[in-house]
Amino acid sequence: MAKVVKFGGSSLADAKQIMKAAGIIKQDSDRRYVIVSAPGKRDSKDTKITDMLINCYELAAAKKDYSRVFNKIKKRYEDIVKGLRLRLSLEDEFKQIDKVLQENPYRDFAASRGEYLNSIIIARYLGYTWIDAAETVRFGKNGFLADETNALLEEKLKNIKHVVIAGFYGADAKGRIVTFSRGGSDITGSIVARAIKADIYENWTDVSGVLVADPHIIDNPKVIHTITYRELRELSYMGASVLHEDAIFPVRKAGIPINIRNTNKPDDEGTMIVESTCRIPEYTITGVAGKKGFAAVNIEKDMMNSEVGYCRKILSAFEDNDVNIEHMPSGIDTMTVIVHQEEFEGKEQRVLASIHKYTEFDQIDMESDLALIAVVGRGMKSQRGTASRIFAALSHAGVNIRMIDQGSSELNIIVAVAGEDFEVAIKAIYDIFVETRI
Ligand code: ASP
Repeated sequence: MAKVVKFGGSSLADAKQIMKAAGIIKQDSDRRYVIVSAPGKRDSKDTKITDMLINCYELAAAKKDYSRVFNKIKKRYEDIVKGLRLRLSLEDEFKQIDKVLQENPYRDFAASRGEYLNSIIIARYLGYTWIDAAETVRFGKNGFLADETNALLEEKLKNIKHVVIAGFYGADAKGRIVTFSRGGSDITGSIVARAIKADIYENWTDVSGVLVADPHIIDNPKVIHTITYRELRELSYMGASVLHEDAIFPVRKAGIPINIRNTNKPDDEGTMIVESTCRIPEYTITGVAGKKGFAAVNIEKDMMNSEVGYCRKILSAFEDNDVNIEHMPSGIDTMTVIVHQEEFEGKEQRVLASIHKYTEFDQIDMESDLALIAVVGRGMKSQRGTASRIFAALSHAGVNIRMIDQGSSELNIIVAVAGEDFEVAIKAIYDIFVETRI
């Protein structure tokens, strides 16, 4: 059995946290491939090392003095090394980073150094082989190169039993450092899991798994025991954040489950993210998530239903102006296009002009400040009455539903409500499925 374990920034924020992580690794001899983030926040007022490094880069690029921030970063690593009682000097490494910042500062290099240094320390502490991600995670002109990276990692890792690899970055063929987007160590964990054909990818963080609802809205929401990749994608898209969105694809390709675990509560089982499962979700719904800030454009035209190509013409007006469409519920003589309000506001009049150019209509009106809520669950398909429970709960809570959209896969039901009703609506849906379970 081989497990890939990735530890996030808060799990490695100082020597004490690193010791906890090391304890978890050593507790199970299958945990042989370790991916690390840069030290994150030690408490809510702290600053992540990655943010401090980016700050250094910005100052360096503007030819300003960055030594104050740079020294703070050095101090954090010195404290870690001391706290772990290691005989390790990072002096040369810091000299090298300083040199690049002075002579040829570039953002990705600076941002990546948090993972780079942390991985050196942790490899030494564990007694595992250290591998520089720059040699194995490959980027090209158009971004990450999945197949090339897979081949490089397979080759490099085939004879190594215990390894620590820095997350978040790689390099192009010339060795120039490139990072993933923020939070990207999750992706590194996933691509390593794919390359070594891991049995499981454990992602250790500071929460006990994916939650049924946003803890900012619901007090102490339940943890989801098992969720499919597809369900997670729906929830993440609507704002539930526990894993980098792109981290799903490599393991999904290889059918490797992800287990989200809590470094501070290692006995909690966490959440299993799987391709498919016959495990019935506890509450019919798997989770509920949502976002505010949507606008709706309602178009009416008599006999719309019998005019071939009408929708396409309308949609062309949005496409011409580079507006992303979120949802598109339609009736016989009406169609509604839901868009991100912020993105749409600046382009609204141009879209209207384009609609005029392409076709005729009887009426157009727009609504703003809408929130979309996705009620997600693989269990909905086999249960009668899910939609009616959602509507009953919302009506009891005095929330007016402005739009409903259910995909034919019956994996989710999307409702739009007024932005000001958003929190009340999430609470009502959570309560009816999880608290009262009627
Ligand atoms: N350290 C990087 C960040 O803060 C990447 C990561 O932690 O996954 O975004």
